[in-house]
Amino acid sequence: MKNRDKMSKINLIMSVISLDIVIVILCFNLGKIYLTIILGIGIIIELNLLIRYLTERNLTEKSKLEYPNSTKRHSAMKFFGNQPSADGGKNSFCDIQEDYNDFIKNVYEPLREKDPNYIKREIIGKDSSNQYNIYAYTFEPRYFQQHILLVSGIHADEEDAVASLGKIMQIITEESGMDGDILYMRQNVKISVIPVANPWGFSQKPKKRNNVSGYTLQSFDKKKNIKEVYYIKKYINRIKSDLSFMVDMHTTTNDSYLDFYGVIHKNCPNVRTLFRVNSWLCDQYAKEGRNVDDQYFGYRTSSCTLNYYCYKVLGIPSSTLELSDYHWDSKKNTSKVITMGVTMWLNYIIQQVNDEYKNMGNDIPSDKYKKVKG
Ligand SMILES: [Zn+2]
Repeated sequence: MKNRDKMSKINLIMSVISLDIVIVILCFNLGKIYLTIILGIGIIIELNLLIRYLTERNLTEKSKLEYPNSTKRHSAMKFFGNQPSADGGKNSFCDIQEDYNDFIKNVYEPLREKDPNYIKREIIGKDSSNQYNIYAYTFEPRYFQQHILLVSGIHADEEDAVASLGKIMQIITEESGMDGDILYMRQNVKISVIPVANPWGFSQKPKKRNNVSGYTLQSFDKKKNIKEVYYIKKYINRIKSDLSFMVDMHTTTNDSYLDFYGVIHKNCPNVRTLFRVNSWLCDQYAKEGRNVDDQYFGYRTSSCTLNYYCYKVLGIPSSTLELSDYHWDSKKNTSKVITMGVTMWLNYIIQQVNDEYKNMGNDIPSDKYKKVKG
């Protein structure tokens, strides 16, 4: 109940009680005993109601009381431990080579079964092959202060992004006690997730980058009519009103020219966060003697990307954050690569959640960007 509603109800009850008291005194003086008793009971009920309204806190107040410092959060970047592989081997958390339906069944559905109040699933549409439902999951705490959107599998062969997102959602759902920031996300951040934007490509052996018609889903400009893109746009437009930011997760697959990189608009408010996370990651790996490149960070996205659509068309701070998987191991989906993916994406997401967008500038010099192919 809103405070204003509550105050007007309290005022109304107090007026009714005052009027009842006057009538009770009148009835008593006139000797109408039964009427006096009935009105007396009425006054007791009204007093009870008044006490309940006066002691009741509304939902917003409750949420503020539980998380007093939630508008300004600052925390260091960190490691979340070694992650299991995604290759179906011993100690792996999933087998990324499974087709789309099995991957959803084995990674996301067990989470939803365990916590159906927190996790909901919906079908946002059929893919271009008409064989697969494109699912969106919503991880929604009882009270939330932010709403974010995470997408992977636009390029369905970029498996490490799909696997890392699955692992991140497992961590937030099942292991939130490991870290204060993760607990904060579990309790305060509504997370909408499209686990695999291109289910057909993901179900092929080997997995394919594009959809059944050979189109890349990075076609968010209006040139082509692609079903997956249409449904993703429709979904984002439905949920966009309270979105803080969107992350589109990719990998560079066989390119190793950069260690990690983000793709962002120069003026997008979360550009500072990306630079900060990149610097930290580079520092960590430079300490191990790796040759890491912190001179350049990503490239400016073209108008066909999901990133461009979310930021330039809808005004949602957005980034494409890519992992150079082959830079970290000789194979994809190993424990090393998933550990790197979880470290990079989860740190970025946490930092982005914690940042206050209004204080962020757009003063990153443009020569920090390097033009590379997407
Ligand atoms: Zn990609």
